[in-house]
Amino acid sequence: MRKAYLFSAMAHEGVLRRDGQPYLSHPMNVANILADLKMDDTGIVAGFLHDVVEDNHAVSIEAIKKNFGEEVAGIVDAVTKIEKDIFSDESLTKEEVEVESLRKLILAMIDDIRVIFVKIADRLHNLRTMESMPPEKARKKAQECLQIFAPIANRLGLGKIKNELEDLAFKYAYPEDYEMIKIALQEKRSYSENFIEDIKKQIMELMTANGLKGEISGRVKHLYSIYNKILRQNITVNEVYDYMAFRILVPEERDCYAVMGLIHSKWNLIPGRLKDFISNPKENGYKSLHTSVIGPSGQPFEIQIRTYKMHEEAEEGIAAHWKYKDGKGIDEKDDYIIKFREEIKEIVSQSGSDLASNLNRDLHPKDIYVLTPQGKIIHLPRGSTPLDFAYHIHTEVGNHCAGAKIDGKMVPLKTELKSGQRVEIIKNPSVHPSHDWLDIAFTTRAKSKIKTWLAQNEKILAIERGKEVFERELRRFKKSTKDIEKDPDIQEGLKKAAVPDIDSLYAEIGYGKIDARAFLKRIYAEEEKEEVHIKQGATRKSFPVPVSLGGESDYLFNIAKCCNPVVGDQIKGYFTKGKGLVVHRATCSNIKRLSELFPERTANVSWNEESNENIFEIPLSITVKNRRGVLGDVTSLVSSANADIISCDAKSLEKQGMGEKGIIKLKIVVKNKSHFLKIIDKISQVEGVVSISRNAP
Ligand code: MN
Repeated sequence: MRKAYLFSAMAHEGVLRRDGQPYLSHPMNVANILADLKMDDTGIVAGFLHDVVEDNHAVSIEAIKKNFGEEVAGIVDAVTKIEKDIFSDESLTKEEVEVESLRKLILAMIDDIRVIFVKIADRLHNLRTMESMPPEKARKKAQECLQIFAPIANRLGLGKIKNELEDLAFKYAYPEDYEMIKIALQEKRSYSENFIEDIKKQIMELMTANGLKGEISGRVKHLYSIYNKILRQNITVNEVYDYMAFRILVPEERDCYAVMGLIHSKWNLIPGRLKDFISNPKENGYKSLHTSVIGPSGQPFEIQIRTYKMHEEAEEGIAAHWKYKDGKGIDEKDDYIIKFREEIKEIVSQSGSDLASNLNRDLHPKDIYVLTPQGKIIHLPRGSTPLDFAYHIHTEVGNHCAGAKIDGKMVPLKTELKSGQRVEIIKNPSVHPSHDWLDIAFTTRAKSKIKTWLAQNEKILAIERGKEVFERELRRFKKSTKDIEKDPDIQEGLKKAAVPDIDSLYAEIGYGKIDARAFLKRIYAEEEKEEVHIKQGATRKSFPVPVSLGGESDYLFNIAKCCNPVVGDQIKGYFTKGKGLVVHRATCSNIKRLSELFPERTANVSWNEESNENIFEIPLSITVKNRRGVLGDVTSLVSSANADIISCDAKSLEKQGMGEKGIIKLKIVVKNKSHFLKIIDKISQVEGVVSISRNAP
């Protein structure tokens, strides 16, 4: 640590922070916060060094590795990269760039959990010293904190850090709202101070008289939580009455319940506000009793009651876990970390452009509390539906969820649940998930279970979909759907199409491999001879497209020519007659329009894995300054990067009055997005290249 401190001092020598402090003050403070979090030596050393590579270009990651070892270098590298990740791909929208950098950040974090801690400590100290940052930049950083870092701190149970991050960030993210609440609370200050003192005294007397020991503290709630209440309940700041909260710490768990009993015997409780997080801890391990009561002169206030140990865990979260573990600090095998990592991975893998909001929603659940018919309390994030409830109870309950009752009344599955409701799920073994459930479910967990089922049972769905299409076409031919499989003409048709039975036919139709109308025409309209079976190889490219629909790759997939997606792009599928599932970029204007018109024909498809063959065509327009050899430079670069060029066209723009500029149109074939981005990066470095664009979807 001493060495890291000196190394950092030398690397940042002569550099000042915006507030005029020597730069070294920042890494020192970050290291200090990490030490408070009981981080291990490696983490603290990385804290000292986290900015040296970025700040002093003479220092390399290699140098850090040599001096401080691989682990420290790994953390510093991740933290540095996250900050510096600037995308040169002009075809990406601003939104896509943000999602992509967020994804990278999150993935780097789960690689080594200490990256998160260094990042959180870094952000916390930056917030503490944000005064001198230009307001616009401060606002952006602060909003990012509220959306990503505070929820992560919360998920890790770092209650104290989470509150500080929120209150500091709130001030910069929404300065006017912050001021408004601050002023309103200041006006009530002498009233609340007196009130708090008075109530503390009364509780203490009550406890002493009943032989209970403990500590009581009272405070005005933190500003950001008051702000959220205002937003949520759509009220003004003067309508927030319960802005004061008390905390009672006692030695034993049974004391918690005893104190709660005393409180309720003295003041009236507010119905629906009593929460027992001791017998039902929150997901992040938080334990406490919460209740709200109406105090003297009608003033409501909240009380949290917990043991000293529960309190320590609530404030320090994960750090409290490894604190007593022979001083070694972080334990990668800690259940807490393992669970957290799995959860994050699941969110990242299930998210597209909604990554930020999914993280925010799933990590920072504004809990609601509903009851099972047996009276068990279930915590769910706000926005959950009965379907989320069903999947929370058990995967099987979710998979056969046919309907739901709230407080005894049947409700649609998409109904949003509210705290205190009693929820009952109606099960039916013949009911199963469908694609539209993905829109009903709110939690990533339920969505993920639905996707898993869809992946494993895609054939059943294909049969259902195929049957529906087939029966519709039958009516066109004025045939009854009754006992259709016994129709000798159909039997003959099945034989010709080399399909064993009617269900297989439905499946083939559902998968888009057989066109139902062409099949029926061949049977019922002799004169029209049309090829029934679409040969896979004929319409596919020379390689199978590495896409799957809910894990099922057995469809006929095709790449849309309008937007040319490549592995790594966000994509959507659309059932096109005779072409199977055509895969578009999610941002493609065609798919947006089509999916509005025919939502039932769109499907959420995903890439299987990184493809290792050059199969993705991407048309590029490269604007260059006219220079001898620029075309040759660009094309040889593409070839040397192992991509193929299938067409090339170049012209000068001089005639269009564009001066010395020219445009090169290339159609290149690449393996995947990172391959593509690498090529773009290389091309952009060629002398004379002005801009590169991938044709807009
Ligand atoms: Mn920093």
